[in-house]
Amino acid sequence: MDEIRIEDLKVFARHGVFPEENEKGQNFYINASLEISLRKAGMTDALDDSVSYAEVCGIISEEMQKHTFKLIEAAAEHLICVLMKRFESIRAISLEIRKPEAPIDLEFASVSVCLRRIRHKAYIAIGSNEEYAEKNECSEELVEDAIRMLDQDPECRVLARSSMIKTKPYGGVATKQFINGAFVLETLYEPEALLEKLHDIENACGRIREERWGDRTLDLDIIYFDNAIIDLPDLTVPHRDMANRDFVLAPLCEIAPDFIHPVFHKTNRELLEEVKEKCIII
Ligand code: ATP
Ligand code: MG
Ligand code: MG
Repeated sequence: MDEIRIEDLKVFARHGVFPEENEKGQNFYINASLEISLRKAGMTDALDDSVSYAEVCGIISEEMQKHTFKLIEAAAEHLICVLMKRFESIRAISLEIRKPEAPIDLEFASVSVCLRRIRHKAYIAIGSNEEYAEKNECSEELVEDAIRMLDQDPECRVLARSSMIKTKPYGGVATKQFINGAFVLETLYEPEALLEKLHDIENACGRIREERWGDRTLDLDIIYFDNAIIDLPDLTVPHRDMANRDFVLAPLCEIAPDFIHPVFHKTNRELLEEVKEKCIII
């Protein structure tokens, strides 16, 4: 992949855990590598087909000065989110913040953090069949809340969503009627961090895990994560039962009918046609 690199951009800012760092300020040096295809710009010689490094430097400088973070980790995470939002053609960013004047009472050249974030696409199935009594929210409201919470997360953006369908309970445990849907997220989270984020949102929406496939205020499952095949104790992607579920595949087909299952090598449309038990959607 092609890259645009920025080396040792000097910014005077006020990040640090000690109050005197926030008051006095110090110099920070930023290195950034932006992964982006430069083929078109190489052919057309037009700035519009690339990313302006002058603008990138301006954004980094302004954002570093505008905020006061305790940690350079948080400053770096913030810079990456802002740059990814501003420049859609950037596929990944590695960003280092050096802090050579850090208050350490020893001789050292510099301390730094280096973060790398990649733009991913995750397909999420969403479902609910119970109201959240404490907040007096019905399934329809919970689903909207959850999608909004993800869209507002700095590391996520909802690219497209399906309509919501009414379905019968699946698996013989839950009793009430469900609503189900799907959406596609652009995200800078890696799969396990995304699962954690989904669990946080489920919890915020009153999810209590008692019995598998039981009644629930909110369920958020990762169906696909790019073309990744993941088999971890707490995370299986593609979702292990999705190909048996018309209530997952039908909404998914609204937003990504031609996406190919990386294990079965079939499109969502083909998988939906193959689902035998098509009696769940009401
Ligand atoms: P199902 O996964 O069959 O739809 P469920 O959604 O009701 O059932 P949960 O109680 O929401 O199950 O999740 C149980 C566990 O499944 C979670 O703690 C999570 O670690 C694990 N899990 C494994 N793969 C995935 C995935 N792709 N998406 C979400 N959770 C997953
Ligand atoms: Mg589920
Ligand atoms: Mg789940």
